[in-house]
Amino acid sequence: MARMSAPAIVILGAGALATARRIQSLYEDSQVHALRGRVDVQAPADVSYSELGAHLQELYARGTPIVALCAAGIVIRCVAPLLANKGIEPPVLAVAEDGSAVVPLLGGLAGVNVMAREIAAALAVPPAITTSGELRFGTCVLNPPDGYALADLGQGKRFVSDLLAGESTRIEGDAPWLDDAQLPRSASARLAIRVTPRAWDGREDELVIHPRSIVAAVTGSGDGMAARVREALAAHGLAPLALAALLAPAERMSEPALAAAAADLNVPLRFVHPHPGDGEPPDNLLHAALRVPYETLRDASAAGVALALAPLAIDPDTIGRARGRLTVIGLGPGRADLMVPAARTALNEATDILGYDTYVKMAGPLRADQRVHGTDNREEMQRARHAFELASEGRSVVMVSSGDPGVFAMAAAVLEALEASQNREWAAVELSIVPGVSAALATAAQAGAPLGHDFCMLSLSDNLKPWTIIETRLRHAAEADLVMAFYNPISRARPWQLDKALDIVREYRVADTPVVLGRDIGRPGGTLRTITLGELRSSDVDMRTMVIVGSSTTRRFASGAGGVEWVYTPRWYE
Ligand code: SAH
Repeated sequence: MARMSAPAIVILGAGALATARRIQSLYEDSQVHALRGRVDVQAPADVSYSELGAHLQELYARGTPIVALCAAGIVIRCVAPLLANKGIEPPVLAVAEDGSAVVPLLGGLAGVNVMAREIAAALAVPPAITTSGELRFGTCVLNPPDGYALADLGQGKRFVSDLLAGESTRIEGDAPWLDDAQLPRSASARLAIRVTPRAWDGREDELVIHPRSIVAAVTGSGDGMAARVREALAAHGLAPLALAALLAPAERMSEPALAAAAADLNVPLRFVHPHPGDGEPPDNLLHAALRVPYETLRDASAAGVALALAPLAIDPDTIGRARGRLTVIGLGPGRADLMVPAARTALNEATDILGYDTYVKMAGPLRADQRVHGTDNREEMQRARHAFELASEGRSVVMVSSGDPGVFAMAAAVLEALEASQNREWAAVELSIVPGVSAALATAAQAGAPLGHDFCMLSLSDNLKPWTIIETRLRHAAEADLVMAFYNPISRARPWQLDKALDIVREYRVADTPVVLGRDIGRPGGTLRTITLGELRSSDVDMRTMVIVGSSTTRRFASGAGGVEWVYTPRWYE
């Protein structure tokens, strides 16, 4: 499980600010999220949101712990649509604005009661804890810390109700987190909490917790790898849940079968370069990767698998290294709900985020444990190489672009950097590109359907291509009667190019051809205008504008009494 991120402290009005700040002081890197327009004085560490329901849902879906300073009912209603979907359940608490009540609502297995106790102590009130086992024992026995896994939740619940009914328990094995718990203990008890990598044998008087203390090193063919690891575990009576990681030789980093096996076993996949003289594979992998004492277990039935059994849980981050990832994403035009979920997932999983500062801000709020490498917009190749450097150290890197990453943006720069390099480590990085809603598409959707028939996308920037090429393309596109979407239409460094481009287009298109101007579409203060080619002046346009020039068939009409105007290009020609 990833380290718990700092909570979002969400307030609706200025009346909650003082309490929010007291809670904030408990959690390093936590931020106060305030309703836009309601709370004026904002510290730099704050976040503003425009709609409570959407904001809480987004935080919840990202697994961010939530402390909401409002009525418990409001919080419940906001996140309710997401509850059926059993995935990550972060801690969710409601706290009274004046700090007089602290109510843990959700996230029992993610430590909500621990947070409730911490916050309540700081506010000098009793927490409204309702979990009976927790009340009695001062800890949730069913929520072991990172590095440990409960063998069976159903059995765990029965076990806790036996304890609540008055029975005592023995503790067998090493369970340091239970030292302070007020558990009724007795050496001769019928019930036992057993901390062991051995598989649970089904006995109902035992609560079995597995320390993740086994590493499976694998060599040989990738087919059936997960099954072979399970066989090796079974041959030694060990539980699959006690597995901390799957370990493989670094030169096989890009093999899909290895990733599939790790996903199947639900453990991290780690890699190591074996040292010469470390013995035969796969034992040599364990030797090169493990920094703790362990015992090696092998089984004849599972070829190419060696198990290392350590006395305590092993942090998988300390074993060899991960395969690095580089994901190039598009944020869409700006609004969070126009970002595709795959891009959001990549952001959640990222250790490092790179991009132009404005876009990195748009991608937030980010967690305190995520490293941001913001840069000036111009150093694109340098940024692409930096991304590969980080990813080849085993980090999970996300490169952000606005709109779609493949449209006049970073995906092509990343591929250019990869092709130019002879670096094998870069080639082993797990590279993927996640599409996004490009500015032309977002603008078109808001205007209607101006791209409803054949169209082209052109960048009017002559930074990376000669102006003569742009002129030729404009002429051909205009002559071919394509609708045209202009990216980078103008900038301070390129003041005359747009007028020149429009002169060319006007040779082929009549003056009343519809033109759509979308500025900051999907961002605060965004505007959309429809004018004609004859009216269009370069002063109507800036570098945050998308210009869509219609074809000979593009039409505009007003609909209904309110007169909403639509622009579209029909799917046919007469
Ligand atoms: N990859 C981006 C485009 C980057 S080029 C995408 O797919 O959208 C930058 C140009 O895109 C800007 O000069 C502007 O013309 C356009 N643009 C980007 N975001 C925009 C937005 N929110 N509204 C209008 N135009 C936008």
